[in-house]
This record gives sequence, structure tokens and C-alpha cells, in this order.
Amino acid sequence: MQNPRVTIDQKKLEDNLSYLTYYCQEKGIQVAAVTKVINAYPGIVSIYDGIEAIKYLADSRIENIENYPVNSKKETLLLRTPMLSEADRVVKSADISLNSEIKTVRKLNEQGQIQSKIHKIILMIDFGDLREGIFEEREFFEYLSEIKDMPHIELYGLGTNLTCYGAIIPTYEILGKLVSYKQKVKALYDIDVPILSGGNSSSLYLLDSDNTTLDPDINMLRIGEAFVLGVETAFAEPIPHMHQDVFTLYGEIVEYRDKPSYPIGEVGQNAFGEKPYFEDKGTMRRGIIALGKQDVNHSAIVPVDSRLEIIGSSSDHMIIDFTLASEDYELGSEVAFQLEYGSLLSVFTSKYVNKYII
Ligand SMILES: *Cc1c(COP(=O)(O)O)cnc(C)c1O
Repeated sequence: MQNPRVTIDQKKLEDNLSYLTYYCQEKGIQVAAVTKVINAYPGIVSIYDGIEAIKYLADSRIENIENYPVNSKKETLLLRTPMLSEADRVVKSADISLNSEIKTVRKLNEQGQIQSKIHKIILMIDFGDLREGIFEEREFFEYLSEIKDMPHIELYGLGTNLTCYGAIIPTYEILGKLVSYKQKVKALYDIDVPILSGGNSSSLYLLDSDNTTLDPDINMLRIGEAFVLGVETAFAEPIPHMHQDVFTLYGEIVEYRDKPSYPIGEVGQNAFGEKPYFEDKGTMRRGIIALGKQDVNHSAIVPVDSRLEIIGSSSDHMIIDFTLASEDYELGSEVAFQLEYGSLLSVFTSKYVNKYII
């Protein structure tokens, strides 16, 4: 195996996928499995594809959806509101897209006509997280009065996204607003919107054992992080029965020697225009790992060996204080790290990090 590398424990990943999808299914929730954090890595997408209870595969990038397995039976869902300039590709490759702009929906309708297709949309409503979504009820009903007559658009669902930008935690009350939109649409136009998409991994905590904290009309969640890291994301709690260590990142030591902890000379700015601060801890055993900012943000990874301390990184080098563990490592040794959401995203995006399913 080549370094640096991330390993994916297939058994643990499958456990997580089966456990959580069946758990949701029992509570009447359809699962859209979100592949963006693993950059839709084909070996992993085919594992997702093999889990029968997963109904949709979802990603924010149309390129990733275009690369899904050709023989997949799952419906595909584009998470990021489409760019006007990609409407043709969206209608061609995604069965469903999340939308919040009427001009974009018009463009999708036009493309539907050109391609003789009906494209499904989920209209996104913003309840205060302040990323995507229609903000005013008046505007929502203006959109709806136009969308209901579009021949190549099917209003498949209403949705909301929380805890992504504004870190707003989903509650029964907030998701209840989604339900009341559905009821108003029914009352005004006699349209039964089939899907209410009630958020992402941060909504999972609402699925309590007797399911009294999630309205039964909420019937879809879009889940990324909980599958791969085994945590719910409203309170960052590990989910019982799920694995938190599906992924491990390994880097290799390319320099290993004692050096002072305080740089010698006048301190200017580092390679990233920052003026760094150093604490003088005397001489320490310093190791350089062949891993850098082009691969991962060092502040979003944790060494498995708790005696190691990450000091910093530049584009291609990561410096670690090995003083407490100096006897146990040498030039060429591998160092293992656990990943968080941000670092998982970057190692799967970096072409320099080799990926191995084990
Ligand atoms: C990324 C994303 C998700 C998945 O979020 P997780 O926190 O990884 O579960 C769901 N919906 C939308 C719109 C997203 O962009």
C-alpha cells in the first residue's frame, strides 16, 4: 500500500449503513445516502448501492452523480441548487434536484421539454439556518402557482436544511413548519406533496424510540456524516451500535531528529501569510510526515497514538512532536490518524491520498 493513504473498513461501513437505514425505515423514513464527503469514491458508492434499504444516492456535485454506477437502481438526488449553466446535465443525470430559485426551475422545465423528461424537484425552505431555501411564505406560494403548471416538472417534495451553515438545531417545531406548508399546498391546490425531506444527520436525534419527536409526515432524511463517522451531528454524539472508526489516515515519517522547539532568527510570516506563535519547550523529537495542506487540514485529524502532538503543517509537510514516544518510531514509520468531517472531505478530494478498501 502506498503512503499517504486512507483505509476504509468495508465491514464497519456496511454495518453502519445497514444499521441506520433499517433504523430509519422502521420509523417510516426513506434514506438518501449522501456521497459528497467521500467525493463519491466509486468503491464506496458501490457499497452504498448494495444496501437495499437505501432508496436514493445523493451528492451536491453533478459530476459525482454522473459517475454513479451505470446499473444502479437507486434514484439520484442533486443536493446543491443547480447552476443555471448545468441545467441540461442535471435533467439528464439526476432524477431529483433540490431547488430554491424559480429561474432555475424554469430552466429545468425547458430542459425537460428538450429531453422529453419529467424532472422531479424538492423545493427548499429556509427556516433560519441561512444557507439555501426560500425565505418568505409569500414567495413560496408565488413559485408554487407557477410550478404546478410546468409540464416537465414534478413537485416531488418540500425540504429544509439545518445545521450546515447557521448551526441551527432541528426541532419538532421547526420541522412542523414543513408539515404546515404541505397542508397549505393541499388546501390551496389539492396537491399531495409526497416527500417531506426533514434535513441531514442533525435530524437523527429526533428519531427517538417511540418516535414522538418527529412528525409522521416527515418521510425522508439526507444522511452523509452519520453513515461514515457514526455520529449524529446536532450534539456530536456517537450513535450507539455504530462504528466511529471506519476510516484511518496513514502518513509516513520522512525526517526524524531532535531540534529546538523555538525557531532561530527573526520571525516574519509563514508560507500562508500568517505570523506564527511558538512556545519554547526546549529540545524536542520532531518528525516530519509526508502529508500536508494539499491532503488534509491538520487541525481536523487526531493521532491514534495520544502521545503524539501535531505542531503544524505546510503544503506538503506535517510536523509532529514525538518527544513522549520517540523510542517507538523511526524514519519510515507510519503514523495513524482518526478523521473528522472536514478532514475526511479533504483526503477524499486530494488526489495524493491513496484509498484502500480493506
Ligand atoms: C451535505 C448535505 C446533506 C448531508 O449532510 P450530513 O450532515 O453529512 O448528513 C444533506 N442535505 C444537503 C442539502 C447537503 O448539502
